[in-house]
Amino acid sequence: LYLWASDKGENIMFVWSILIFFEILIYATALYFVYYFIEERDFPLSIKAGLFLLIAPIILLVATQYNLQYYDLTNCEREASEGALWEYTYYVEALFATLILAQLIYVAFSKRFIGRKKEITLICLGMLAFLVFFAWGNIIGSITGDWSLGQYGLFGMPIFIAFLGYSIVKFQVLNIKALAVQVLVAAIVIMIGAQLFFVKTPLVQALTFFTLLCVLVFGVMLIRSMKREIESKEQFQSLSVSLEKANDRLEELDKQKSEFISIASHQLRTPLTAIRGYISLALEGSYGEINNNEITDIFHKIYTIDLRLSQLVEDLLNVSKIEAGKVQYKWEEVALEPIIRELYDMFIALAQKKGLSLAFKEPETPLPTMTLDVNKIKEIVSNLIDNSIKYTEKGGVTISIESTPTVVRVVIADTGIGIEPEDAAKLFQKFIRTETTKMMDAGGSGLGLFVGKSFVEAHGGRIFVTSEGTGKGSQFIIELPLINPNKNL
Ligand code: ADP
Repeated sequence: LYLWASDKGENIMFVWSILIFFEILIYATALYFVYYFIEERDFPLSIKAGLFLLIAPIILLVATQYNLQYYDLTNCEREASEGALWEYTYYVEALFATLILAQLIYVAFSKRFIGRKKEITLICLGMLAFLVFFAWGNIIGSITGDWSLGQYGLFGMPIFIAFLGYSIVKFQVLNIKALAVQVLVAAIVIMIGAQLFFVKTPLVQALTFFTLLCVLVFGVMLIRSMKREIESKEQFQSLSVSLEKANDRLEELDKQKSEFISIASHQLRTPLTAIRGYISLALEGSYGEINNNEITDIFHKIYTIDLRLSQLVEDLLNVSKIEAGKVQYKWEEVALEPIIRELYDMFIALAQKKGLSLAFKEPETPLPTMTLDVNKIKEIVSNLIDNSIKYTEKGGVTISIESTPTVVRVVIADTGIGIEPEDAAKLFQKFIRTETTKMMDAGGSGLGLFVGKSFVEAHGGRIFVTSEGTGKGSQFIIELPLINPNKNL
């Protein structure tokens, strides 16, 4: 029965008869590749077992009459006569090809593969083209008996390679670098391995074998390190994607927070103003004479507390507007001195009440007009004067205006608690207050300077503080350019 042992069985018979095995292997691996590519995982064990059962008869019967019966040498050609095993193999091959097609159809209708449909379709079509061309010759050959057509099957190969190449470039389906290294290593191994069959001297054979071994070992190491690199790159990529998501979420939360503060502040502002209005009216006697000094005193206190609360709400609103980039500026062409003088007049009573001096030094020659947002300037400077009075126990506060040909400086100098050099820059951040301030019983939010900095910068200027240290007074300086670079915004 065994062809290999039969007298008709020449050496060549062996090669021909195991072809059937390679052929079915090509179909099986094609199916495997497509499944792995689509599902990105190995076959389940049951499918593996099923495939093996289908292929098993081919392996078992490869060396029997069911495979190759004999060679017909009558026409001086080696024409093989196929046994029933070939027919069976064709059916299995057709089944495998149909399974690939079925997967392609499944993917086309499934929602699971949205975004990957194009690349999967290309790979499946490429693979089917390859198999059809591969089988073409066999089918025609079996039917017509003209086996020379079988050679055209080779055209399927470049078509598949073209599809694969296109998919790689277009969708970066497989990592092209890793693929190139693997192909290169395999090619070198095959080339060196092939030499083994040609070299005759034992020494050269040994050397070639050694080289092959070295290439194999280093090749495997190279491929492994490449894979590791790709893995870490992928990890890095997925990490950056999740960081991006987290960042988006944080930005969203930050926006919500600003919106919340903005809404809450608006709701607080109106009742606070109303309270102040009623108290003013009450103090003026609009609701009848108040003869009780204690009540008058309490009304004054409520008024002051209400004013502080309003200031805090105003600061919170300003911060939320600054962070949302929604601060609007109303530019006017005005002189600076009268604005500062008005503030000086406003604060003189407060300073005197605390036993402090308050001085105002105007520039010797009047300043040219500047493009300013008057309300914002008032807000910044009044916060600075208010701070200086608040953080000074003895001595006083001096407000001065200095000018150079390009800038104007408003300096608010006091003889108060001073600032440590390392705190100086930090004070212009949100919610920052010095340790000395925290120990004092002075209300405050740590927002005024932050808001002031933003307003001054919008005028193209800067704000900074100089102090020789705790207990040595401070000078807050607002520097504004004579020509506002943002006046047209
Ligand atoms: P607030 O005064 O409401 O706390 P600010 O933003 O206006 O908020 O000021 C931030 C901090 O800067 C103050 O808490 C205080 O520690 C410090 N500071 C401001 N002005 C002075 C000053 N004139 N002397 C000493 N420290 C000051």
